[in-house]
Order: sequence, then structure tokens, then C-alpha cells
Amino acid sequence: MRVALFGAAGNVGRALQPALEAAGHDVIGFDLRRGEVDFSDAEAAIDFTTPEAAPGNVRAALEQDVPSIVGTTGFDLTPLAELARERGVQLFHAANFAIGAVLMMRFAAEAAAYMPRAEIVELHNETKRDAPSGTAKATAALIPGETAIHSVRLPGLVAHQEVLLGGDGQLLTIRHDTFTREAFAPGVLLAVERLRKLPAGLTVGLETLLA
Ligand code: NAP
Repeated sequence: MRVALFGAAGNVGRALQPALEAAGHDVIGFDLRRGEVDFSDAEAAIDFTTPEAAPGNVRAALEQDVPSIVGTTGFDLTPLAELARERGVQLFHAANFAIGAVLMMRFAAEAAAYMPRAEIVELHNETKRDAPSGTAKATAALIPGETAIHSVRLPGLVAHQEVLLGGDGQLLTIRHDTFTREAFAPGVLLAVERLRKLPAGLTVGLETLLA
């Protein structure tokens, strides 16, 4: 498939492009700032940029009826979801494309049914702009009641999350660590393969693509 990749030179983009190419996709690094506005060749668009750039990038792709995958977090997807629905185009977003993180969220939701209190600690590289992370917010949404989120931003970290579930005399810790950005590639590849079979409008979460 011919794929327009916004953010190809970024941390995630640099890991993603070779993985997409190894899977047989033809990747075009796309940047509206360079005046690249013609999507006529692209069969899918992927955005891993910034919360400021992503809305304009994805809007431009959807307006040319290109199904889109959004990895960028920290902005409101509602206007893009409406646009995708109006145009009958697929839009997919996952707060975390790492399969282990999806399992962490699933196990945390399951455990929260039996443990009375939970708090989340999310740890990311200092360059991550938004806090709390999209993954932490999505995890909290799966846990009943108020779930406090603690955000750590330090050099050396990539993306890590602990869900601490406390009960009388016991603590259950569910932890996921992303050590390199290659961790996101299989999830993005799965989304690329499934994108055109999704219903028009917004689909959220890698778990929706897993059997
Ligand atoms: P990064 O290293 O800062 O890379 C962002 C890239 O976007 C840079 O190369 C930047 O280029 C480029 N960019 C900025 N504005 C652009 C525009 N208008 N058009 C095209 N490219 C533009 O960030 P990252 O670590 O790769 O992360 C990118 C985003 O993905 C962040 O929001 C992060 O939170 C999110 N993320 C999501 C997941 C997930 O699984 N959903 C996983 C990891 C990261 P310049 O430097 O030239 O401006």
C-alpha cells in the first residue's frame, strides 16, 4: 500500500518507516510545511507528529478521502471524527500501539473489578509534550471510580506505565515497558492492514483490531 507518513523524521517515524517498507508498503514522508498537499497517490496516511501539527495533517488527508491512522496524542479528535464520518472515510486512533501496553490495560481493567483502589504511574521521556499520557487516561477510563495518574518526564525513559492496585494488606502491580520505538510498529502495521475494512468514522484502540 502507498502510505503518506507525517513525522517520518521523528523518533517513532524513524522506527516505523523501515518496518512499513519491510512489510511491502511504499512510504512517502509527508510534510505540509514543505507544501506537500497532494494525496492523490496515497492509500493511507499515518501521523506521528505533535498535538499542534496532527489536526491539520489529518484534516488534509481526510479532505482528500485518504483513510488515516493517528498515533499523535494530546489533542481533541472530535472534529476529525466528525469530518471522517461526514466523508465516509476511516479514521483510526490508538493511544498506544504497543501490544504489551494493550494487554496491560486489559489486565488492569480485569484486576480493578477485584481490588478496591488503583493509581497509575506513567513515565516517559522528557521530550513527551502532553501529560498525562493518552495510555494513562485510557487505562483510567477502564477502571471504576477516580483513578489518580502520576506523570514522570525524565531523560533516558521511553514509555513505561505501572498500574498499582491496592487492597487491605496487598498490592498488585501491573507494569509495561517500551524500550524502543520498534515496539509500536506491529500495531501500526496491523492498523494499516485493517484500516479500509473498518467502518467509516473514528475507531479507537488497538484492542478493537485484535481478535
Ligand atoms: P518527535 O520525535 O518529536 O517527532 C515528531 C516529528 O514530527 C518530528 O520529526 C517533526 O519534525 C515532525 N513534525 C512536526 N510538525 C510537523 C508537520 N506539520 N508536518 C510533518 N511533520 C511534522 O515525536 P515522537 O516521539 O516521534 O512522537 C510523535 C507523537 O506520537 C507524539 O504525540 C507522541 O506522544 C506520540 N506517540 C504515540 C504513540 C502511540 O502508540 N500512539 C507512541 C509513541 C509516541 P520537525 O522536528 O522538523 O518539526
